[in-house]
Amino acid sequence: MISYCSRCLYPSTKPDLWFQDGLCGACHSFEQRSKYDWSSGRQVFRDLLRANKKNPRYDCIVPVSGGKDSTYQVWRVLQEGFNPLCVTAPTDQLTALGRTNIENLKSLGCDYVEISVNREVRKKINRHAFFAVGDIQWPEHLLIYTTPVRAAVQFQIPVILWGECPQREYGAGRPEDAYLKYFDRRVLEEYGSLNGLRVSDLLAIDGVAVRDLYFYEYPSVEDVDSLGLKGIYLDNYFPWNGISNAVISQSLGFRVSETNILGTISNYENLDNYVHGIHDYLKYLKFGFSRATDVACNLIRRNLLSREDASMLLERHDGRYPASYLDRTLTEILAYFEISMQEFDAVCDDYTNYDLFLQDQAGQLTRREDGSPQLAGSYSCLHS
Ligand SMILES: [Zn+2]
Repeated sequence: MISYCSRCLYPSTKPDLWFQDGLCGACHSFEQRSKYDWSSGRQVFRDLLRANKKNPRYDCIVPVSGGKDSTYQVWRVLQEGFNPLCVTAPTDQLTALGRTNIENLKSLGCDYVEISVNREVRKKINRHAFFAVGDIQWPEHLLIYTTPVRAAVQFQIPVILWGECPQREYGAGRPEDAYLKYFDRRVLEEYGSLNGLRVSDLLAIDGVAVRDLYFYEYPSVEDVDSLGLKGIYLDNYFPWNGISNAVISQSLGFRVSETNILGTISNYENLDNYVHGIHDYLKYLKFGFSRATDVACNLIRRNLLSREDASMLLERHDGRYPASYLDRTLTEILAYFEISMQEFDAVCDDYTNYDLFLQDQAGQLTRREDGSPQLAGSYSCLHS
């Protein structure tokens, strides 16, 4: 049975989440951050970028997706008077809205590099990872980290500016990592979220060769060390708030969806990849929570949503069967990866943690109207 954080609605099943006195790691670190004196953050940030300048033109690399957070990051760096090089590894199945937002980001006033890997090979890896580890978004989860590091070495830019530190914002990892300053090799290896699938395993896929995997691998330790690479988090120097990031980004031309995004309770994120719905549904089946919970918990911590109201929203929106996502049906999305609906449903069943969901006496899952399983001991206990 799932138990929940006494402040937000993060569940005990969330991977790597720690609890102390009934409070989850994300709530603990949010409490700590609210006590910060941010007044020196700006100066520390400026000094750090100036002290680590190596490329005469660029001050840092900003990994960007075109989303609300990366649009905000680029704006912040420009406001501080620095010149970023923006680097994108596009999503697995970039949506039209995602492309629009990338084009908007390119108009903010900085140089931009887009690195696209071989699509046919990537498609094979997507398909393989979906069956092998239940993660159709696996290439993206790797490339968003490796590509900026490749670019940093290539252009000799020693600072990569990431947005929020996941160990702080989402409480994932060891308690001491809520105070992380640098995103380094140790953090990459510990929290790389590769689900046990290694890059070298990809060579077992028919049609994938060593030459196809350059961007899936990090540069050598020697190259990284001789550059003096530092991965830093913007949320160490300026307060981080997804809502205000969205407001600032929209004022800069960032476009949101006209409707709520499936599986969550917002219209301002997860806009750039048709497979988000599939990924989030598998997360729900594996752990009994998904993206709507992440968003709701962020809002609860900031006193923008009550825990009781959130629990009602989550019952309705979290873990929805991804019958369609934005303007595409599930059948259309899966067809690209040569995955049938039958194969999809079979994989979903394989990765479902039956202990988390209601079952009838015959052991069959009790399903909601859309076909997604009903959580056992659902949130209703929190608002009844
Ligand atoms: Zn919490």
